[in-house]
Amino acid sequence: MNKLTSPRTIRDIMDRYGFKFSKRYGQNFIIDEHVLDKIVEGAHITKEDAVLEIGPGIGVMTNTLCEAAGQVVSVEIDKTLMPVLSETVGHHENLHIIEGDILKIDIKDLFERHFKTKRPKLVANLPYYVTTPIIMKFLEEHIPVTDLVIMIQKEVADRILASPSTSDYGALSVAVQYFTEPSIVTRVSRDSFMPAPNVDSTVLRLKVRDKSPVKLADETVFFMTVKDGFGKRRKTLLNALTGGFLGLTRDQANEALACSGISPQLRAETLGIEEFATLSNCIVDVIG
Ligand code: SAM
Repeated sequence: MNKLTSPRTIRDIMDRYGFKFSKRYGQNFIIDEHVLDKIVEGAHITKEDAVLEIGPGIGVMTNTLCEAAGQVVSVEIDKTLMPVLSETVGHHENLHIIEGDILKIDIKDLFERHFKTKRPKLVANLPYYVTTPIIMKFLEEHIPVTDLVIMIQKEVADRILASPSTSDYGALSVAVQYFTEPSIVTRVSRDSFMPAPNVDSTVLRLKVRDKSPVKLADETVFFMTVKDGFGKRRKTLLNALTGGFLGLTRDQANEALACSGISPQLRAETLGIEEFATLSNCIVDVIG
């Protein structure tokens, strides 16, 4: 049994260390043991695995991860949690804790030091305020993780999983589905946390693709096309693409749309990844 899921234990730790939950760092700790089991199961973690955990908090998930995985490296931004973690999870010989901000630390150096021989799985109960920047950092910078198993706000998970022509579908859906195969591990009620947040959560497994699902002439142009399309999502593609980040003239936008066989009157939210790829390849042809 993982004692750290007990609210009484958490309160005792808070009293002894004078620790206060920080809203700024999105601190909502898991108090439901079943959620921990589901995360480890959903991530398919075995002793063969290395894990990078973001935000161990007081170490509740860290404990479970250390028991299941061969190696765990946990990065925590809140330095007041360091003495707590040393008490709660410091006995695990396969654990290394790093104090720092995952968005600012030298990730390349971290990987060279700790994951030289094995691509880790990223596992995290992510603070809501940095969910998207953290996911996109790992994907866009091609940081070599095999999976991202992440607890995130339900609404963000719905956007990641969304299909074309639905209201949740947008640039985030296209980007995450381009880099990974996302699936739901479990839904988690807000009552599974202390303190309870104002939102429910979903645990997603994002399995990083070994190769791109579409053929692209230029990945940057692909993402700019997506950005332009959804930047003005109520407008037709012709209007959305004219004068956007790509700087297309109306004629160039028309030409690219004609080349791709996509109607200029459609909206970006109706296009799947394949169609965005075709369109962006045509844009590359048009802008030379
Ligand atoms: N893993 C614990 C759990 O599941 O109960 C805590 C999860 S809590 C939602 C998020 C944790 O991430 C907190 O401990 C917070 O201090 C830490 N955190 C927030 N921003 C961070 C960042 N940029 N880099 C590293 N850790 C961060």
